[in-house]
Amino acid sequence: MSQSLNIKQQALAEASSYAARGNQAGLKNALVKGLDNGVTVNEFKEILVQVYAYCGFPRSLNALNTLMQTVEERGNKDELGKLPNPMPKGNAVEYGTKNQTKLVGSEVKGALFEFAPAIDTYLKSHLFGDIFARDNVDWQTRELATVAMLASRKGVENQLNAHIAIAKHNGLTDEQIDEILEIASHTGNDDLLFGFGKENTAYAKYFTGKSYLQPITATNGVPMFNVTFEPKCRNNWHIHHKGGQILLVTQGRGWYQEWGKEPRELKPGDVVNIPAETKHWHGAAKDSWFTHIAVEVPSDGGSTEWLEAVADEEYNKLK
Ligand code: MN
Repeated sequence: MSQSLNIKQQALAEASSYAARGNQAGLKNALVKGLDNGVTVNEFKEILVQVYAYCGFPRSLNALNTLMQTVEERGNKDELGKLPNPMPKGNAVEYGTKNQTKLVGSEVKGALFEFAPAIDTYLKSHLFGDIFARDNVDWQTRELATVAMLASRKGVENQLNAHIAIAKHNGLTDEQIDEILEIASHTGNDDLLFGFGKENTAYAKYFTGKSYLQPITATNGVPMFNVTFEPKCRNNWHIHHKGGQILLVTQGRGWYQEWGKEPRELKPGDVVNIPAETKHWHGAAKDSWFTHIAVEVPSDGGSTEWLEAVADEEYNKLK
């Protein structure tokens, strides 16, 4: 069954992602959207407290401060919502272990937890005990928030993949997960080094999906453009005649392919040297915004020849 996120879930994912990135202006917009659409103050409080487990106390404290200020600015009129029921009786490690097993769908163990038992104890007692035992936010919502937080951080792919599986185990659909990843990727556009720019309408006919263009240098003989692609957006097959092109990847996940060759996955820091006279395309992955700087290699009488679109059938094979 395919099902997209409702507006409350969108606002919670956006807030989680902005909080993880430490972007207070973006967080405030997400909080306002959520509060206007039925997310309660206590639901946001729970999620922003949970931020500390995945992003540390500083991010959580700053986010909670933004929530406090936002609620004050709105005249303290927003619905507070439910508080959690009293915590379960007994030992936090015990009920945390039960929660963890139920949440994940099987007992969690491994060499790392034998190597460093303290972290296993903290995960069980504190994260899955103290935090997940607070029952005024359901586990599906907590997992939605966790996926959004982890997808907004670098170097936590293992944990992100684990929580995507846990989120599915708790009822989120593939389509909803893709939407959370897309939201978490989009929040990064606010921090683009060279700006987001304007919708690329002039070349829209050579693109599938929307792209955004920010000229960096347009007039000094080495034209450079910051190009941002929405998820699934890519340009048509094309050829740079005489001068080639260099792509400097700055944000998100995307693809580059030369005619007759395997597609190459792109991530920030990757550099693509596109020789002149080479048929190719570039664009975003299906679940990620993607930004590169396109440097046009100067040449005498260079031009770009635009060809057919990349077939959905081919594009949809990419992960
Ligand atoms: Mn190109």
